[in-house]
Amino acid sequence: MSLILIAIGGNAILHPEKGNPQEQQEKIDGTCKEIARIIRGGVDVVLTHGNGPQIGNILAMQEECGLVHPQPLDICGAQTQGMLGYLLQRSLLNMFREIGIKKQVTTIITQVIVDGSCESFQNPTKPIGLYYQEERAKTMMNAGVKMIHDRKGYRRIVPSPMPFNIVEEDIIKKLISEGVLVITAGGGGIPVIERNGVLEGIEAVVDKDLTGSLLANKIGAEIFLILTDVENAALNYRKTNQVDLREITVHEAELYIKEGHFGKGSMEPKMLAAVRFIRSGGKSAIISSLDKAIDALAGKAGTRIIA
Ligand code: ADP
Ligand code: MG
Repeated sequence: MSLILIAIGGNAILHPEKGNPQEQQEKIDGTCKEIARIIRGGVDVVLTHGNGPQIGNILAMQEECGLVHPQPLDICGAQTQGMLGYLLQRSLLNMFREIGIKKQVTTIITQVIVDGSCESFQNPTKPIGLYYQEERAKTMMNAGVKMIHDRKGYRRIVPSPMPFNIVEEDIIKKLISEGVLVITAGGGGIPVIERNGVLEGIEAVVDKDLTGSLLANKIGAEIFLILTDVENAALNYRKTNQVDLREITVHEAELYIKEGHFGKGSMEPKMLAAVRFIRSGGKSAIISSLDKAIDALAGKAGTRIIA
């Protein structure tokens, strides 16, 4: 049976500013329903997910509370893996019961090894969490928080190092081989460094699409399916001459990345992840939206990147 790694965006789970628990459950159920339909089509799936809105909310709660000691980013990341893992796990099980699929589901708290001396630790670039007004932002920056300013306000920036290895790789593979649906590497995985054989958590976030491609290669997935909120990656995005991409070669993808067609921190990491997957031996990577997932797998929608 062919194996597909599905990566879903954090925004497919919860809108950062809205999203009460009921709305969150409804969105998760919608996502899991589609995933169950994909599995019913006769493939094996491994699931990974983003955590941008969720980790932002945890940071905001920590900042507003002031009563308890704030936890570092690696621990906040672990919290989101547990929380989202639980929600996805329960919802998937319910969908499976509804349509008669006999499958176990489990979430693996996943650590990824990053290089602690990489450039992103000197120059953090990844914006996360809420926007702050100038006065509040200045107080935070005086306390040592690194921030950037864009048209919506100030936002915290953190290092986003490349993922090299997945600590729990063997157990993930074992569970897949036993037919378990594994939810893993949530939020790009918890970044850890390895020093003299000892693992240490580190304050960073890893791009979920890049970890997704690494994971897809490691587990030998045939297809790496990235589900986001647009149906296609496009050239000249949001311009009058926008062209939605259907099937492109990895070489074309590299060219379009170089030409700057894809948003930094949004579509570009997805394209980079797709390229990395194919260049490391993967068969095809697809970028599309949740509601087009089944059509995209059938070659009738989405953007497909092939060798
Ligand atoms: P996710 O939470 O799924 O990772 P992101 O917001 O990070 O989602 O990335 C998806 C977004 O990328 C889309 O909503 C779209 O606005 C943006 N985007 C930037 N450049 C492009 C492009 N060239 N083609 C399509 N979408 C693009
Ligand atoms: Mg993203």
